[in-house]
Amino acid sequence: MPSPQIEAVIDLDAFGANLTALAECAPSSMLLTVVKADAYGHGMVPMARAARAAGSAWLGAATVEEALALRAAGDRGPLLCWLASPGADFASAIEADVEVTASSVEQLDEILAAGPSRPKVQLKVDTGLSRNGAHGVHWTELVAAAAAAQHAGRVEVTGVWSHFACADEPAHPANDAQEAVFVAAVDEAVAAGLEPGIRHLSNSAATLSRPSAHFDLVRVGIAAYGIRPDPGMTYPTRLTPVMTLRARLAQVKRISAGAGVSYGHTWTAERDTTLGLVPMGYGDGIAVSASSRAQVQVGGERASVAGRVCMDQFVVDLGDRPAERGDVATLFGPGHDGEPTAEDWAAASGTIAYEVVTRLGGRTVRTYRGGT
Ligand SMILES: *Cc1c(COP(=O)(O)O)cnc(C)c1O
Repeated sequence: MPSPQIEAVIDLDAFGANLTALAECAPSSMLLTVVKADAYGHGMVPMARAARAAGSAWLGAATVEEALALRAAGDRGPLLCWLASPGADFASAIEADVEVTASSVEQLDEILAAGPSRPKVQLKVDTGLSRNGAHGVHWTELVAAAAAAQHAGRVEVTGVWSHFACADEPAHPANDAQEAVFVAAVDEAVAAGLEPGIRHLSNSAATLSRPSAHFDLVRVGIAAYGIRPDPGMTYPTRLTPVMTLRARLAQVKRISAGAGVSYGHTWTAERDTTLGLVPMGYGDGIAVSASSRAQVQVGGERASVAGRVCMDQFVVDLGDRPAERGDVATLFGPGHDGEPTAEDWAAASGTIAYEVVTRLGGRTVRTYRGGT
C-alpha cells in the first residue's frame, strides 16, 4: 500500500485516556467534548465517535453546520452548538435534536421562528469574555423572553452557560469575577421563573485547575487532544498528545558551505551539510514563522528547519548523518521518543499549540490508530 506523503497519525487510545483523565478531574460533572473546527484538526467524525465511546455524554460544536454534519454521520447523542450568524439553519438543527444556544433576544426569536416544534435552547451569558453572549440588561431581557416563551410552551430552556477569558491563568482575577457573575446570572434566570437546566462554565483549563467552576458539565477541547491549555503550567493530570505529524523526505542532497537555502536565502550553510526536503508547507498549515526555527526528527535525531517555509515544502539541515529520500521526518508527536511536540512548534513559530494542530490541512492525510 502506498504510504501518504504527509500523514497525521491520530492515536484514539490516547484520546480516550485523556478524556477519562479529564472526567476524573470533574467527577460530579458531565463531560462535553468539543469537536469544532474538525476536532481541532484531528477529524470531526472519528473523534466524535471516539469521544462517545470514551464516555463523553455530550459533544459540542461551534456552528449549526458542524452539528448537522455529526448527525449526518450518525451521531445521536446530546449535542450543543453555540455560534450562529443570521440565517443559520436552526430549523434543521431543531429537527435533528441539536441543542442550540441563544446569545440574545434577537437570536432566541430567530430560533423560535425556525419551526413549530419546541426547541431545546441553552442561554449564553457573557460573564466577562466580551465575546458571544448576553450581558447586563441584555441578560435580564434574554431570561425574561426565554421565560415567557417557555411559559407559552414554545421552548424548553435546557441550560445556562458561559465561557472564561483567562482560565489558563488560574490566579487571574477575571476568573473569580466571571464565576461570581455566572452564579448571579443563574440566580437571575431562576428568579425569572426558569429552571436553569445544566449550568456550565469550564473549558479545559478550568476543568484542570478550577473545581469551583465545574458546575453540571465541563467542556473540554484542547486537553482532550493532549495539549496543555498553557504550556507553562504543570497539571496533575497526565495528558498525551493525540496527533503525530510526519512526512517522508522528497529529496536528500549534499550542499557546500556558503550555499543559500530556500527563498530569500535567509539561511546559509556554514559548512558542507546534508539537506532533507520535507514535502509540507504553508499550503498544508505549516507556519512561515517556523522558518529556520522549528525542528523535526529524522532517524532519531533533531534537525532544524533551514530557511523559509514555502507553500509546499521546507528544508531541514541534517548535518552529516546518513539519510535517504523517503526517510520519515516527524514534525511533532507525543514527545516520548525525543520528537518535538505541537507545543514546541507553537513556541518556535510564535503561536499557540491550538493553532498548530487546528490549521493543518491541505494535503495532510489522517490515519487512525487504536480505538474500538
Ligand atoms: C472552543 C471552546 C471550548 C473548548 O476550549 P478549550 O480551551 O479547547 O478546552 C469550550 N467552550 C467553548 C464555548 C468553546 O468555544
